[in-house]
Amino acid sequence: MIPFNKPPITGYEQQYLHQAVENGKLAGDGSFTKSCNEWMEEYFDCTKAFLTPSCTHALEMAALLAGIGPGDEVIMPSYTFVSTANAFVLRGASIVFVDIRPDTMNIDERLIEDAITSKTKAIVPVHYAGVACEMDKILFIAKKHNLTVIEDAAQGVMSTYKGRALGTIGDLGCYSFHETKNYTSGEGGALLVNNPEWKERAEIIREKGTNRSQFFRGQVDKYTWVDVGSSYLPSELNAAFLYAQFEQADAINKDRIKAWNTYYEELYPLAEEGKAELPYIPADCVHNAHMFYIKTKDLEERTALIDWLKQYDIMSAFHYVPLHSSEAGKRFGRFYGNDRFTTRESDRLLRLPMYYGLSEENVKYIAEKVRSYYAC
Ligand SMILES: *Cc1c(COP(=O)(O)O)cnc(C)c1O
Repeated sequence: MIPFNKPPITGYEQQYLHQAVENGKLAGDGSFTKSCNEWMEEYFDCTKAFLTPSCTHALEMAALLAGIGPGDEVIMPSYTFVSTANAFVLRGASIVFVDIRPDTMNIDERLIEDAITSKTKAIVPVHYAGVACEMDKILFIAKKHNLTVIEDAAQGVMSTYKGRALGTIGDLGCYSFHETKNYTSGEGGALLVNNPEWKERAEIIREKGTNRSQFFRGQVDKYTWVDVGSSYLPSELNAAFLYAQFEQADAINKDRIKAWNTYYEELYPLAEEGKAELPYIPADCVHNAHMFYIKTKDLEERTALIDWLKQYDIMSAFHYVPLHSSEAGKRFGRFYGNDRFTTRESDRLLRLPMYYGLSEENVKYIAEKVRSYYAC
């Protein structure tokens, strides 16, 4: 059986887990957490990086930092994971969903400005499949209207836009290290604080609203409750596991890109014959092979292809049900303008198996079975 996803394992995780146990410090912000934070700051070139228990938590921290409150509006695509929206709904905001571009499945930057009202506080671009949104345009609009930009870069670790790491371009960026993502600690995430003004407050919010970190650095003589906050730090065990993967980040990335490129070559005939569409990578974007998808003619064909592949023990998957059509999405948000592409394109998208260690042979086998469905 070829699974749809497998968590990456490099072989060094157990050694670091053992070391964390030996260190005798299991709570958050020990030496492995520090190493992970510093690695991200250096590798991605950002002001401050904080490990969090998940990307969901990083988004929640971002909503707190951005000062989102009741009555505010936040702009994002409907084609995303629930956490992108929930983080802001938890603060009392309502969500304004904007249509996506059919080529990248990312928010259509040309539609954002019209969706802005006097209540708008933030724009949340989601870098789908690790392929960047049109960030220059989005930053320009945000600046003009004085809005915060929070990147949902859950899928974009190691991807770049015009040479800059995704997650480091907006005011804040959120990463996921869930087991379905390119690098993992089982459950995990990170908040990247790019706007230096928020560095100190991020640290406080993450530590239950206390100035504990300042106390440990000797900057204050006692530690106390100074702001709202929650527990947004993962255990050292998670950090130890993740650090082993950071050290192998380039090897993992290379392996995934190789599989992605093989899929692309092997399925190119389908695109040429107009039978299915392949992903599009804009010139300014370097992606991380988070996902390989094709687009079928319609929902019916996609369902048939999933079943076809299942016969050969190949697990494929569709993706998000657009949030604006969900029960909670209707309650907490509204779609701005026309849904030209969100529903139609999400119905056609089919994700093929993709994980670290997926062999060349298996990619070719999967591609052959996809081609055989279309008999070409
Ligand atoms: C995976 C994902 C999340 C949530 O990540 P967790 O670490 O599981 O909380 C949020 N947004 C997007 C776009 C994702 O793909």
